Amino acid sequence: MSTLSKLRNDCFALPAGVHWTPVSEALHLLEQRLRCCVPVEQSAVEDSDGRILANAVTAVRSHPPCPNSAVDGYAFAGGLPAGAHSMELREGRSAAGVAFTGRLVPGQALRILTGAALPDGADTVVLQEDVRIEVGQLHVIGPLRAGANVRAAGEDMQQGAEIFRASHQLRPEDLGVIAAAGLGEVAVFKRLKVAVISTGSELRVPGQAARVDQIFDANRPMLCAVLRRWGMEVVDIGIVPDEAAAVRAALDRAAELADVIITSGGASAGDEDHMSAVLRASGGMELWRIAVKPGRPLALGVWGGLPVFGLPGNPVAAFVCALIFARPALLQLAGAGFQLPQALHLPAAFSKSKKPGRREYLRARLRDGTVEVFASEGSGRVSGLSWAEGLVELPDAAAEIAPGQTVCFLPYASFGLL
Ligand code: AMP
Ligand code: MG
Repeated sequence: MSTLSKLRNDCFALPAGVHWTPVSEALHLLEQRLRCCVPVEQSAVEDSDGRILANAVTAVRSHPPCPNSAVDGYAFAGGLPAGAHSMELREGRSAAGVAFTGRLVPGQALRILTGAALPDGADTVVLQEDVRIEVGQLHVIGPLRAGANVRAAGEDMQQGAEIFRASHQLRPEDLGVIAAAGLGEVAVFKRLKVAVISTGSELRVPGQAARVDQIFDANRPMLCAVLRRWGMEVVDIGIVPDEAAAVRAALDRAAELADVIITSGGASAGDEDHMSAVLRASGGMELWRIAVKPGRPLALGVWGGLPVFGLPGNPVAAFVCALIFARPALLQLAGAGFQLPQALHLPAAFSKSKKPGRREYLRARLRDGTVEVFASEGSGRVSGLSWAEGLVELPDAAAEIAPGQTVCFLPYASFGLL
């Protein structure tokens, strides 16, 4: 493992006497107790989509580096007052990447193309559609502002200016900005290695033969794909049956290969909940009874100094808990800081009477500007995850929601997913 500092076994201890931890409290505790655990490496700009900046990025040159033309037209010096004007048209031209080497004197104009450097002695460009050319003369009707149709040097980015802060996770458009600012590589955190384990003796690999009392492992393909979208490296440990020795062996293997471990299933306190039993026996486990639906409980443990997120087995709960709890925690470990989703406040298209005492997440989507929810709240209905395009977050307190009332919609995109 490449974890810089091992976690203490009591890292996830909760205050004594607390029974149901509110979501906001659980998030606060995770933020406090986890730190970036990955080293820094250099990465070529073109390979850096999804990478997390280890340092702030500063423009090494201005953008644009010199004044250039925003249009195809004619360059000259100064603006033009209202009325008709004529200028001498110089021989030659300035094209993108092939600058004119001479100098214009007042009263002269030069052919210039989009993106070409302005010739010395010019600061203004007139559009080619706005001029008439006649035997070495250019005729134009003013007025035209001095500096028109010119991109000033550094108007977009100034050399030496900070263009990205450390911990920013790079997106495709950012790679364009960094390249434009003159950098060929950036310092990024190594990708966080996340081991994924599914637990349950009923689980089969998708596509394998299965008895009717067996089910396919839906969580692993889903969680592995989610982690990759978040820019992390997946270490797929596979399915582990409900046997303590097998669970221990899987955790050992995960701890050797990864920086953090995500498991699903067996996280409660039942007879066959070996994940929580094994973690508890190691001394590094806290069952966080989080006041959340779907999802409780979440087993947070430490194995070989690595944080372990024991998600519930139910695919809907596993997915929701991955988005709500594991995402900010993993991004913190990966160097991106603790990130919470940006919510949209939109009118509901549904009614719901919600009890107090826990936060609830419903599978939801946006249609015609209103938020619809999936017909069933049953957390076994995995198909609802695909029907949805996000989650509705209902507050911890009791709530009576009627159509038209504002609710908090969290699009999947706000969790870094499509
Ligand atoms: P558990 O948290 O182990 O008690 O599991 C809760 C429910 O989720 C049970 O119905 C399990 O069969 C189911 N389940 C657990 N793991 C998975 C998985 N990887 N894929 C699909 N269903 C699962
Ligand atoms: Mg189970």
